[in-house]
Amino acid sequence: MNPHLATLSSVDPDIAELVRSEERRQSEKIRLIPSENYVSRAVLEATGTVLTNKYSEGYPGRRYYEGQQFIDQIETIAVERAKQLFGVDHANVQPYSGSPANLAIYLALLSPGDTVMGMALPMGGHLTHGWSVSATGIWFRSVQYGVRRDTGRIDFDEVRDLARKERPKLIFAGGTAIPRIIDFAAFAEIAREVDAVLVADIAHIAGLVAGGVHPTPVGHAEIISTTTHKTLRGPRGAMLMCDAKHAKALDKAVFPGLQGGPHNHTTAAIAVALREAMQPEFREYARQIVANAAALADELLARGFDLVSGGTDNHLILVDLTSKGVAGKPAAKALDRAGLEVNYNTVPYDPRKPFDPSGIRLGTPAVTTRGMGPAEMRQIAAWIDEVVSALAKGDEDTCAATEQRIAGEVRELTSRFPAPGIDA
Ligand SMILES: *Cc1c(COP(=O)(O)O)cnc(C)c1O
Repeated sequence: MNPHLATLSSVDPDIAELVRSEERRQSEKIRLIPSENYVSRAVLEATGTVLTNKYSEGYPGRRYYEGQQFIDQIETIAVERAKQLFGVDHANVQPYSGSPANLAIYLALLSPGDTVMGMALPMGGHLTHGWSVSATGIWFRSVQYGVRRDTGRIDFDEVRDLARKERPKLIFAGGTAIPRIIDFAAFAEIAREVDAVLVADIAHIAGLVAGGVHPTPVGHAEIISTTTHKTLRGPRGAMLMCDAKHAKALDKAVFPGLQGGPHNHTTAAIAVALREAMQPEFREYARQIVANAAALADELLARGFDLVSGGTDNHLILVDLTSKGVAGKPAAKALDRAGLEVNYNTVPYDPRKPFDPSGIRLGTPAVTTRGMGPAEMRQIAAWIDEVVSALAKGDEDTCAATEQRIAGEVRELTSRFPAPGIDA
Protein backbone atom coordinates (compact mmCIF):
# COMPACT_ATOMS: atom_id res chain seq x y z
CA MET A 1 0.00 0.00 0.00
CA ASN A 2 1.22 3.53 -0.71
CA PRO A 3 2.00 5.26 2.58
CA HIS A 4 0.62 8.53 1.22
CA LEU A 5 -2.79 6.89 0.81
CA ALA A 6 -2.83 5.09 4.17
CA THR A 7 -5.24 7.52 5.85
CA LEU A 8 -7.42 7.84 2.80
CA SER A 9 -7.64 4.06 2.60
CA SER A 10 -9.01 3.78 6.12
CA VAL A 11 -11.40 6.74 5.82
CA ASP A 12 -12.67 6.13 2.31
CA PRO A 13 -11.52 2.82 0.86
CA ASP A 14 -13.67 3.25 -2.26
CA ILE A 15 -11.98 6.46 -3.36
CA ALA A 16 -8.56 5.21 -2.24
CA GLU A 17 -8.92 2.12 -4.39
CA LEU A 18 -9.99 4.16 -7.40
CA VAL A 19 -7.03 6.52 -6.97
CA ARG A 20 -4.72 3.52 -6.79
CA SER A 21 -6.29 2.11 -9.94
CA GLU A 22 -5.73 5.42 -11.70
CA GLU A 23 -2.11 5.43 -10.53
CA ARG A 24 -1.67 1.95 -11.97
CA ARG A 25 -3.34 3.02 -15.22
CA GLN A 26 -1.13 6.11 -15.58
CA SER A 27 1.89 3.99 -14.80
CA GLU A 28 1.15 1.06 -17.14
CA LYS A 29 -0.12 2.96 -20.15
CA ILE A 30 1.70 4.98 -22.74
CA ARG A 31 -0.03 8.30 -22.38
CA LEU A 32 -0.05 10.22 -25.65
CA ILE A 33 -2.72 12.85 -25.03
CA PRO A 34 -0.82 16.06 -25.85
CA SER A 35 -2.46 18.19 -23.14
CA GLU A 36 -1.49 15.76 -20.37
CA ASN A 37 1.68 15.11 -18.41
CA TYR A 38 3.08 13.77 -15.16
CA VAL A 39 3.80 16.40 -12.49
CA SER A 40 6.74 15.89 -10.16
CA ARG A 41 6.30 14.54 -6.66
CA ALA A 42 7.16 18.03 -5.38
CA VAL A 43 4.24 19.51 -7.32
CA LEU A 44 1.94 16.74 -6.05
CA GLU A 45 3.04 17.38 -2.48
CA ALA A 46 2.42 21.13 -2.76
CA THR A 47 -1.04 20.42 -4.16
CA GLY A 48 -1.93 18.18 -1.21
CA THR A 49 -1.25 20.68 1.57
CA VAL A 50 -3.25 22.64 4.17
CA LEU A 51 -3.11 25.65 1.86
CA THR A 52 -6.44 24.31 0.60
CA ASN A 53 -7.93 25.37 3.96
CA LYS A 54 -7.36 29.09 3.46
CA TYR A 55 -9.48 31.87 1.98
CA SER A 56 -7.52 34.70 0.34
CA GLU A 57 -9.83 36.83 -1.81
CA GLY A 58 -7.84 39.73 -3.19
CA TYR A 59 -4.15 39.97 -4.04
CA PRO A 60 -0.98 39.92 -1.89
CA GLY A 61 -1.08 42.87 0.52
CA ARG A 62 -4.72 43.65 -0.38
CA ARG A 63 -6.81 40.76 0.97
CA TYR A 64 -10.34 40.57 2.30
CA TYR A 65 -9.45 37.99 4.97
CA GLU A 66 -6.91 37.94 7.79
CA GLY A 67 -4.19 35.35 8.20
CA GLN A 68 -2.34 35.88 4.91
CA GLN A 69 1.19 35.99 6.40
CA PHE A 70 2.32 32.97 4.41
CA ILE A 71 -0.18 32.85 1.56
CA ASP A 72 0.91 36.33 0.45
CA GLN A 73 4.51 35.17 0.29
CA ILE A 74 3.59 32.06 -1.68
CA GLU A 75 1.53 33.96 -4.25
CA THR A 76 4.22 36.64 -4.57
CA ILE A 77 6.86 33.97 -5.24
CA ALA A 78 4.65 32.37 -7.89
CA VAL A 79 4.05 35.72 -9.59
CA GLU A 80 7.74 36.70 -9.51
CA ARG A 81 8.79 33.34 -10.97
CA ALA A 82 6.22 33.62 -13.77
CA LYS A 83 7.49 37.09 -14.61
CA GLN A 84 11.09 35.91 -14.61
CA LEU A 85 10.52 32.70 -16.55
CA PHE A 86 8.47 34.27 -19.34
CA GLY A 87 10.03 37.75 -19.25
CA VAL A 88 6.78 39.66 -18.69
CA ASP A 89 5.87 42.75 -16.64
CA HIS A 90 2.83 41.33 -14.93
CA ALA A 91 1.42 37.91 -14.04
CA ASN A 92 -1.80 36.76 -12.42
CA VAL A 93 -1.63 33.17 -11.13
CA GLN A 94 -5.17 32.98 -9.74
CA PRO A 95 -7.35 31.77 -12.65
CA TYR A 96 -8.84 28.39 -11.74
CA SER A 97 -8.05 26.97 -15.17
CA GLY A 98 -7.51 27.95 -18.79
CA SER A 99 -11.16 28.54 -19.65
CA PRO A 100 -11.88 31.00 -16.82
CA ALA A 101 -8.54 32.70 -17.55
CA ASN A 102 -9.71 33.34 -21.10
CA LEU A 103 -13.12 34.47 -19.94
CA ALA A 104 -11.39 37.04 -17.72
CA ILE A 105 -9.79 38.55 -20.84
CA TYR A 106 -13.22 39.05 -22.39
CA LEU A 107 -14.51 40.59 -19.18
CA ALA A 108 -11.51 42.93 -19.00
CA LEU A 109 -11.61 44.20 -22.57
CA LEU A 110 -14.97 43.53 -24.24
CA SER A 111 -18.66 44.19 -23.78
CA PRO A 112 -21.25 41.58 -24.72
CA GLY A 113 -21.82 41.65 -28.47
CA ASP A 114 -18.32 42.89 -29.28
CA THR A 115 -16.42 41.02 -31.96
CA VAL A 116 -13.76 38.42 -31.18
CA MET A 117 -11.72 36.47 -33.69
CA GLY A 118 -10.22 33.06 -33.02
CA MET A 119 -9.39 29.79 -34.67
CA ALA A 120 -12.41 27.55 -35.20
CA LEU A 121 -12.53 24.56 -32.86
CA PRO A 122 -12.64 21.91 -35.62
CA MET A 123 -9.61 23.58 -37.22
CA GLY A 124 -7.55 23.29 -34.04
CA GLY A 125 -8.74 26.25 -31.94
CA HIS A 126 -10.15 26.20 -28.41
CA LEU A 127 -13.79 26.47 -27.31
CA THR A 128 -13.04 29.72 -25.48
CA HIS A 129 -11.79 31.45 -28.63
CA GLY A 130 -15.38 32.17 -29.65
CA TRP A 131 -16.73 28.74 -30.62
CA SER A 132 -20.52 28.72 -30.92
CA VAL A 133 -21.41 26.49 -27.93
CA SER A 134 -19.07 28.38 -25.58
CA ALA A 135 -20.15 31.43 -23.56
CA THR A 136 -17.52 33.25 -25.63
CA GLY A 137 -19.45 32.45 -28.81
CA ILE A 138 -22.88 33.02 -27.27
CA TRP A 139 -22.28 36.37 -25.55
CA PHE A 140 -19.89 37.81 -28.12
CA ARG A 141 -19.93 38.16 -31.88
CA SER A 142 -17.40 35.63 -33.03
CA VAL A 143 -15.62 35.30 -36.35
CA GLN A 144 -13.42 32.30 -36.94
CA TYR A 145 -10.39 31.55 -39.07
CA GLY A 146 -9.06 28.14 -40.00
CA VAL A 147 -6.22 26.50 -41.86
CA ARG A 148 -5.75 26.02 -45.58
CA ARG A 149 -7.16 22.80 -46.96
CA ASP A 150 -4.01 22.07 -49.00
CA THR A 151 -1.36 22.88 -46.39
CA GLY A 152 -3.12 22.37 -43.06
CA ARG A 153 -1.56 25.67 -42.00
CA ILE A 154 -2.90 29.10 -41.12
CA ASP A 155 -3.21 31.38 -44.13
CA PHE A 156 -2.28 34.88 -42.92
CA ASP A 157 -3.78 36.53 -45.99
CA GLU A 158 -7.10 34.97 -45.06
CA VAL A 159 -6.71 36.02 -41.39
CA ARG A 160 -5.85 39.58 -42.47
CA ASP A 161 -8.80 39.82 -44.86
CA LEU A 162 -11.18 38.57 -42.19
CA ALA A 163 -9.76 40.96 -39.60
CA ARG A 164 -10.05 43.95 -41.98
CA LYS A 165 -13.64 43.05 -42.79
CA GLU A 166 -14.87 42.18 -39.27
CA ARG A 167 -12.72 44.53 -37.14
CA PRO A 168 -12.48 42.29 -34.04
CA LYS A 169 -11.50 43.91 -30.73
CA LEU A 170 -9.72 40.76 -29.67
CA ILE A 171 -7.74 38.25 -31.72
CA PHE A 172 -6.76 34.88 -30.28
CA ALA A 173 -3.67 33.06 -31.54
CA GLY A 174 -3.20 29.51 -30.31
CA GLY A 175 -5.20 26.35 -29.98
CA THR A 176 -5.45 22.72 -29.01
CA ALA A 177 -4.60 20.83 -32.18
CA ILE A 178 -1.97 22.94 -33.91
CA PRO A 179 1.08 20.84 -34.85
CA ARG A 180 3.12 23.78 -36.17
CA ILE A 181 5.01 26.82 -34.84
CA ILE A 182 2.62 29.72 -34.27
CA ASP A 183 3.79 32.91 -35.97
CA PHE A 184 2.97 35.44 -33.25
CA ALA A 185 4.71 38.24 -35.17
CA ALA A 186 2.38 37.74 -38.16
CA PHE A 187 -0.67 37.81 -35.88
CA ALA A 188 0.65 40.96 -34.16
CA GLU A 189 1.03 42.78 -37.45
CA ILE A 190 -2.60 42.04 -38.32
CA ALA A 191 -3.83 42.99 -34.84
CA ARG A 192 -1.97 46.33 -35.06
CA GLU A 193 -3.45 47.06 -38.46
CA VAL A 194 -7.05 46.60 -37.27
CA ASP A 195 -6.50 48.00 -33.77
CA ALA A 196 -7.25 44.70 -32.05
CA VAL A 197 -5.66 43.31 -28.91
CA LEU A 198 -3.72 40.15 -29.64
CA VAL A 199 -4.00 37.34 -27.10
CA ALA A 200 -1.53 34.48 -27.33
CA ASP A 201 -3.09 31.41 -25.75
CA ILE A 202 -0.06 29.22 -25.12
CA ALA A 203 -1.84 26.63 -22.95
CA HIS A 204 -0.42 23.73 -24.97
CA ILE A 205 3.04 25.11 -25.65
CA ALA A 206 3.92 27.06 -22.48
CA GLY A 207 6.56 24.47 -21.55
CA LEU A 208 8.05 24.68 -25.03
CA VAL A 209 8.18 28.48 -24.84
CA ALA A 210 9.72 28.38 -21.36
CA GLY A 211 12.17 25.73 -22.54
CA GLY A 212 13.23 27.80 -25.55
CA VAL A 213 12.01 25.50 -28.32
CA HIS A 214 9.03 27.59 -29.47
CA PRO A 215 9.24 31.34 -30.21
CA THR A 216 7.85 33.44 -27.38
CA PRO A 217 4.78 35.63 -27.89
CA VAL A 218 6.30 38.24 -25.57
CA GLY A 219 6.74 41.46 -27.52
CA HIS A 220 4.01 40.43 -29.98
CA ALA A 221 0.91 39.66 -27.93
CA GLU A 222 -0.40 42.21 -25.44
CA ILE A 223 -1.89 39.43 -23.33
CA ILE A 224 -0.65 35.87 -22.81
CA SER A 225 -2.91 33.20 -21.42
CA THR A 226 -1.74 29.76 -20.39
CA THR A 227 -2.75 26.73 -18.45
CA THR A 228 -0.13 25.44 -16.05
CA HIS A 229 -0.83 21.70 -16.38
CA LYS A 230 0.09 20.84 -19.97
CA THR A 231 3.69 21.04 -21.25
CA LEU A 232 4.51 23.43 -18.38
CA ARG A 233 4.05 20.39 -16.10
CA GLY A 234 2.42 22.07 -13.12
CA PRO A 235 -0.88 21.55 -11.31
CA ARG A 236 -4.26 22.18 -12.98
CA GLY A 237 -4.45 25.95 -13.13
CA ALA A 238 -3.74 28.94 -15.33
CA MET A 239 -1.94 32.26 -15.56
CA LEU A 240 -2.53 35.51 -17.36
CA MET A 241 0.49 37.60 -18.31
CA CYS A 242 0.69 41.05 -19.85
CA ASP A 243 2.48 44.37 -19.88
CA ALA A 244 1.59 47.16 -17.45
CA LYS A 245 -1.13 48.52 -19.75
CA HIS A 246 -3.62 45.68 -19.14
CA ALA A 247 -2.50 44.61 -15.64
CA LYS A 248 -5.20 46.35 -13.63
CA ALA A 249 -8.06 45.40 -15.90
CA LEU A 250 -7.05 41.73 -16.00
CA ASP A 251 -6.56 41.50 -12.23
CA LYS A 252 -9.97 43.09 -11.69
CA ALA A 253 -11.57 40.70 -14.15
CA VAL A 254 -10.15 37.60 -12.43
CA PHE A 255 -11.08 38.89 -8.98
CA PRO A 256 -13.69 40.16 -8.21
CA GLY A 257 -15.00 39.93 -11.79
CA LEU A 258 -15.16 36.18 -12.18
CA GLN A 259 -13.75 34.38 -9.19
CA GLY A 260 -13.77 34.35 -5.42
CA GLY A 261 -10.92 32.94 -3.38
CA PRO A 262 -7.85 31.68 -5.22
CA HIS A 263 -6.85 28.02 -4.83
CA ASN A 264 -3.79 28.55 -2.67
CA HIS A 265 -2.63 24.93 -2.81
CA THR A 266 -2.60 25.26 -6.59
CA THR A 267 -0.74 28.58 -6.38
CA ALA A 268 1.98 26.90 -4.31
CA ALA A 269 2.23 24.02 -6.78
CA ILE A 270 2.42 26.51 -9.68
CA ALA A 271 5.34 28.20 -7.88
CA VAL A 272 7.08 24.81 -7.59
CA ALA A 273 6.49 23.98 -11.24
CA LEU A 274 7.84 27.38 -12.30
CA ARG A 275 10.98 26.78 -10.25
CA GLU A 276 11.38 23.41 -11.95
CA ALA A 277 10.90 25.10 -15.33
CA MET A 278 13.84 27.44 -14.57
CA GLN A 279 16.28 24.55 -14.21
CA PRO A 280 18.58 23.54 -17.08
CA GLU A 281 16.95 20.06 -17.16
CA PHE A 282 13.68 21.66 -18.19
CA ARG A 283 15.24 23.01 -21.38
CA GLU A 284 16.47 19.52 -22.13
CA TYR A 285 12.97 18.13 -21.46
CA ALA A 286 11.46 20.69 -23.86
CA ARG A 287 14.02 19.89 -26.54
CA GLN A 288 13.36 16.17 -26.13
CA ILE A 289 9.57 16.62 -26.42
CA VAL A 290 10.06 18.14 -29.86
CA ALA A 291 12.68 15.57 -30.91
CA ASN A 292 10.37 12.76 -29.79
CA ALA A 293 7.40 14.18 -31.68
CA ALA A 294 9.56 14.46 -34.80
CA ALA A 295 10.68 10.83 -34.44
CA LEU A 296 7.11 9.64 -33.87
CA ALA A 297 5.87 11.66 -36.86
CA ASP A 298 8.65 10.38 -39.14
CA GLU A 299 7.90 6.76 -38.31
CA LEU A 300 4.16 7.25 -38.77
CA LEU A 301 4.77 8.92 -42.15
CA ALA A 302 7.07 6.04 -43.16
CA ARG A 303 4.19 3.70 -42.33
CA GLY A 304 1.82 5.58 -44.63
CA PHE A 305 -0.08 7.65 -42.09
CA ASP A 306 -1.51 10.96 -43.23
CA LEU A 307 -0.49 13.76 -40.83
CA VAL A 308 -2.27 17.10 -40.88
CA SER A 309 0.21 19.70 -42.25
CA GLY A 310 2.53 16.82 -43.13
CA GLY A 311 4.29 16.60 -39.79
CA THR A 312 5.00 18.51 -36.61
CA ASP A 313 7.18 21.33 -35.23
CA ASN A 314 6.14 20.92 -31.63
CA HIS A 315 4.79 18.32 -29.19
CA LEU A 316 1.67 17.40 -31.12
CA ILE A 317 0.67 15.23 -34.07
CA LEU A 318 -2.75 15.19 -35.71
CA VAL A 319 -3.37 12.03 -37.73
CA ASP A 320 -6.07 11.85 -40.40
CA LEU A 321 -7.03 8.15 -40.50
CA THR A 322 -9.25 8.42 -43.58
CA SER A 323 -6.61 6.87 -45.85
CA LYS A 324 -6.31 3.93 -43.42
CA GLY A 325 -10.02 3.18 -43.72
CA VAL A 326 -10.84 3.62 -40.03
CA ALA A 327 -12.43 6.45 -38.06
CA GLY A 328 -10.85 8.25 -35.12
CA LYS A 329 -13.10 7.03 -32.33
CA PRO A 330 -12.85 3.27 -32.89
CA ALA A 331 -9.12 3.70 -33.44
CA ALA A 332 -8.70 5.60 -30.16
CA LYS A 333 -10.70 2.93 -28.33
CA ALA A 334 -8.68 0.08 -29.86
CA LEU A 335 -5.41 1.86 -29.07
CA ASP A 336 -6.52 2.38 -25.47
CA ARG A 337 -7.20 -1.36 -25.14
CA ALA A 338 -3.66 -1.89 -26.44
CA GLY A 339 -2.26 0.39 -23.72
CA LEU A 340 -1.78 3.45 -25.96
CA GLU A 341 -3.86 6.38 -24.75
CA VAL A 342 -4.76 8.95 -27.42
CA ASN A 343 -7.85 11.02 -28.11
CA TYR A 344 -10.05 11.07 -31.17
CA ASN A 345 -10.08 14.49 -32.80
CA THR A 346 -11.54 16.35 -35.76
CA VAL A 347 -9.18 17.10 -38.60
CA PRO A 348 -9.53 20.33 -40.63
CA TYR A 349 -12.48 20.10 -43.07
CA ASP A 350 -13.53 16.85 -41.39
CA PRO A 351 -16.47 15.35 -43.28
CA ARG A 352 -17.40 13.34 -40.18
CA LYS A 353 -19.17 14.55 -37.02
CA PRO A 354 -17.19 16.03 -34.04
CA PHE A 355 -18.29 13.15 -31.79
CA ASP A 356 -17.14 10.61 -34.39
CA PRO A 357 -14.36 12.36 -36.32
CA SER A 358 -11.66 11.22 -38.75
CA GLY A 359 -8.55 11.77 -36.68
CA ILE A 360 -6.58 11.02 -33.59
CA ARG A 361 -4.35 13.47 -31.72
CA LEU A 362 -1.03 12.40 -30.23
CA GLY A 363 1.59 14.19 -28.19
CA THR A 364 4.90 13.48 -26.52
CA PRO A 365 5.00 15.52 -23.26
CA ALA A 366 4.07 12.67 -20.89
CA VAL A 367 6.27 10.01 -22.49
CA THR A 368 9.16 12.49 -22.55
CA THR A 369 8.70 13.21 -18.85
CA ARG A 370 9.08 9.46 -18.26
CA GLY A 371 12.41 9.58 -20.08
CA MET A 372 11.48 7.87 -23.34
CA GLY A 373 13.40 8.77 -26.48
CA PRO A 374 13.34 8.31 -30.27
CA ALA A 375 13.77 4.52 -30.12
CA GLU A 376 10.62 4.22 -27.99
CA MET A 377 8.80 6.63 -30.33
CA ARG A 378 9.53 4.35 -33.29
CA GLN A 379 8.23 1.37 -31.31
CA ILE A 380 5.08 3.31 -30.39
CA ALA A 381 4.49 4.17 -34.07
CA ALA A 382 4.87 0.49 -34.95
CA TRP A 383 2.28 -0.48 -32.33
CA ILE A 384 -0.13 2.21 -33.53
CA ASP A 385 0.30 0.88 -37.06
CA GLU A 386 -0.40 -2.69 -35.96
CA VAL A 387 -3.55 -1.77 -34.03
CA VAL A 388 -4.93 0.45 -36.81
CA SER A 389 -4.12 -2.14 -39.51
CA ALA A 390 -5.86 -4.89 -37.54
CA LEU A 391 -8.88 -2.62 -37.07
CA ALA A 392 -8.97 -1.81 -40.79
CA LYS A 393 -9.05 -5.52 -41.68
CA GLY A 394 -12.10 -5.80 -39.46
CA ASP A 395 -11.62 -9.28 -37.97
CA GLU A 396 -12.64 -9.01 -34.31
CA ASP A 397 -10.60 -11.96 -33.04
CA THR A 398 -7.43 -10.71 -34.72
CA CYS A 399 -8.01 -7.23 -33.32
CA ALA A 400 -8.51 -8.51 -29.79
CA ALA A 401 -5.42 -10.73 -29.99
CA THR A 402 -3.29 -7.89 -31.37
CA GLU A 403 -4.49 -5.44 -28.75
CA GLN A 404 -3.90 -7.90 -25.93
CA ARG A 405 -0.39 -8.78 -27.06
CA ILE A 406 0.59 -5.11 -27.48
CA ALA A 407 -0.90 -4.19 -24.09
CA GLY A 408 1.51 -6.72 -22.56
CA GLU A 409 4.44 -5.30 -24.52
CA VAL A 410 3.44 -1.79 -23.47
CA ARG A 411 3.39 -2.84 -19.80
CA GLU A 412 6.87 -4.28 -20.25
CA LEU A 413 8.14 -1.03 -21.80
CA THR A 414 6.50 1.30 -19.28
CA SER A 415 7.92 -0.72 -16.38
CA ARG A 416 11.36 0.44 -17.53
CA PHE A 417 10.34 4.14 -17.46
CA PRO A 418 9.02 4.98 -13.97
CA ALA A 419 6.36 7.66 -13.90
CA PRO A 420 7.21 10.64 -11.64
CA GLY A 421 5.05 10.85 -8.55
CA ILE A 422 3.84 7.25 -8.76
CA ASP A 423 5.26 4.52 -6.57
CA ALA A 424 5.96 1.29 -8.43
C1 LIG B 1 -6.44 23.47 -22.58
C2 LIG B 1 -6.69 24.78 -23.21
C3 LIG B 1 -7.50 25.76 -22.60
C4 LIG B 1 -8.40 25.52 -21.43
O1 LIG B 1 -7.92 24.94 -20.35
P1 LIG B 1 -8.85 24.26 -19.24
O2 LIG B 1 -7.92 24.26 -18.09
O3 LIG B 1 -9.19 22.91 -19.77
O4 LIG B 1 -10.04 25.12 -19.02
C5 LIG B 1 -7.59 27.00 -23.20
N1 LIG B 1 -6.94 27.26 -24.34
C6 LIG B 1 -6.19 26.34 -24.96
C7 LIG B 1 -5.50 26.70 -26.23
C8 LIG B 1 -6.04 25.07 -24.43
O5 LIG B 1 -5.31 24.16 -25.08
